[in-house]
Amino acid sequence: PADEVTNFSPGPTSLPKAVEQVIADGFNKPGLTSLALSHRSPEFLDILSHTVETLRSVMNIPDTYEVLFTHGGGHGQFAALPLNLCHDASDVATYVVNGTWSERGRDEGQRYCRVQTIDARDPQTGAYKSFPELTEDNIDPDSKYVYLCSNETVNGIELHRLPKLPESRKHIPLVVDASSDFSTKPIDWEGCGVGVLFACASKNIGHPGVTLTVIRKDLLGKDKASPLCPGVFNYTTNSEAGNLWNTPATFNIEVVGHMMDWIAAQGGIDEIERRSIEKATALYDVIDGSDGFYGTPVDEKALRSRMNVPFNVAGGDEELTNMFLIQSWEKGMIGLRTLTPFGVGDYLRASLYTGVPVEGALKLAEFMRDFARKHG
Ligand code: PMP
Repeated sequence: PADEVTNFSPGPTSLPKAVEQVIADGFNKPGLTSLALSHRSPEFLDILSHTVETLRSVMNIPDTYEVLFTHGGGHGQFAALPLNLCHDASDVATYVVNGTWSERGRDEGQRYCRVQTIDARDPQTGAYKSFPELTEDNIDPDSKYVYLCSNETVNGIELHRLPKLPESRKHIPLVVDASSDFSTKPIDWEGCGVGVLFACASKNIGHPGVTLTVIRKDLLGKDKASPLCPGVFNYTTNSEAGNLWNTPATFNIEVVGHMMDWIAAQGGIDEIERRSIEKATALYDVIDGSDGFYGTPVDEKALRSRMNVPFNVAGGDEELTNMFLIQSWEKGMIGLRTLTPFGVGDYLRASLYTGVPVEGALKLAEFMRDFARKHG
């Protein structure tokens, strides 16, 4: 492709150029980066506490929450949640399923607890395009938690703000899979009753290998987790050991810290959200203004993802789609063809994570407009 490349990959993906430079500079100082430090050395302890502190300040995480770094990715947390929040398999948990990732989280979760599903699948088409209302009727008051995914990476459905549970269900902790939208908008931790929020690192905050879990401290405690919960996934064990119960993903933790420093230097989370809105609006405007040449599956504009914009070209026409991919690649726009294992139609996807600069998204929007003019 061209010299200037914009990476629209759904993740793992490029970090902001300045962050990649900080990491590259670190390689030139052997012995000083977390690639070469014992996880128990004072130098790494400084890196770890810096990452935790910047995360807390950038994301406004209250002191009533613990910040954990574990292994196992989002999938690890799918299992860790019920194993930590349900003492045994007869405990109930409520899962909102409105896309492929919440479906996967629910499927893994139900191996460890009794799951009740609030299913948002369109009964006619089988597609996920909406987010259901959360009511007294669909949430069992005995649920140990209510689970949702705040950005469905594949389906392109995002909650721009977390919902609040109905008054009579406020005692239930909200559990959020924020793997693909964490650190792109503010979170009202206490106001929305967040109990646990987790994010795999490979979209907006770093690279795969470390997983961030933020847990409200009252949910920790020696006897709360299932006795079957492995130590590496046990929130209480990891919290008591200060994230050093076993060897953490040292380098990846350092990278998360660099990302948080960068966000702070850009003006903080409100500025990142402003850019996300600008990037996504540019693409959805082209799609909506294309007289049907481009299509996007989510009709409800308030739910359209700012992180992942799925779109098809001329109704999925193979020849035009391939032409679109080749020409955009030649102009330096890569990562648009995504090969998910979920089979959700012929959609391409432009992922607009924090590493994608506004100019990159505007360039794609312009290319799309030109392409539609020539071939529409
Ligand atoms: N949840 C969401 C919303 C995701 O986008 C992903 C990864 N694409 C996962 C969970 C799974 O994360 P991992 O591959 O790290 O297990």
